[in-house]
Amino acid sequence: MRTLTSLLGNGQRLDGGAMFGNAPKALWSRWVAPDDANRIPLACRALLVRDAGQTLLFDPGVGAFFPPDLRARYGVEEPQHVLLDSLAAAGVAPEDVDRVVLSHLHFDHAGGVLAPWREGAEPALAFPRARFLAGREAWERARAPHPRDRASFAAEICAALEASGRLDLVAGDDASLLGEGYRFHRSRGHTPGLLVSEIAMPEGPVVFASDLVPGRAWVHLPITMGYDRNPELLVDEKRALLEDLEARAGRLFYFHDAEVALSRVARDERGRFRAVEETSALSELAA
Ligand SMILES: [Zn+2]
Repeated sequence: MRTLTSLLGNGQRLDGGAMFGNAPKALWSRWVAPDDANRIPLACRALLVRDAGQTLLFDPGVGAFFPPDLRARYGVEEPQHVLLDSLAAAGVAPEDVDRVVLSHLHFDHAGGVLAPWREGAEPALAFPRARFLAGREAWERARAPHPRDRASFAAEICAALEASGRLDLVAGDDASLLGEGYRFHRSRGHTPGLLVSEIAMPEGPVVFASDLVPGRAWVHLPITMGYDRNPELLVDEKRALLEDLEARAGRLFYFHDAEVALSRVARDERGRFRAVEETSALSELAA
């Protein structure tokens, strides 16, 4: 028995231009409408997987670890840790989570490992029993960022994970710590060592694409984010993933899409990839 549930965490508003790389506003504003400050709404949507013997959480999102000034700067509106509320609504307490899988250490994906910010309090982990899993290359990048991506990391996240003694770093695409029915696709275009998780399901694999394909708009092959370290490599990796998913009837899970949690991919009459069979929330797919 395996159930998959999409869970919304704290949303964000970020600059639309930065989110769409070299695409002009005239193009991307047709897909997502910007606000007065040119920002677009972005979800932080985690994936909860309940197997017979374990409860897994993929990317706990930005969470609520920022102090109020940084919360405002990064467009995080709610002060509470929304994902913990979503987990509670799904019947999962923080201590029930056995493992948190971190696709990479950018704060909007990993900040949710931390408990909400409190004046004068040291950062603490929100999941008291969980083991944490990240790719070794992604971890090394987080510990020694480049000046161009330094602002995407927060040192207190790494410090708390390291001090916990509950951090597992995996090399290559080794997903054996997760048990049967999981594999990792590795990707370097967004950030070195990004783990793209694939979960086997009877109706075809579900791929937690993380920032390789953050939402439906980025299913368009040439569309990248300004945050991507190597956009051409990212497009090549994305093409390989989408061709593979199309061939195997796989589905894409979208971390940042404000409206859609999951879709399949298909090609239109000109051969361009598009999201099809969109689902706004995913729950209780049983195996
Ligand atoms: Zn990222």
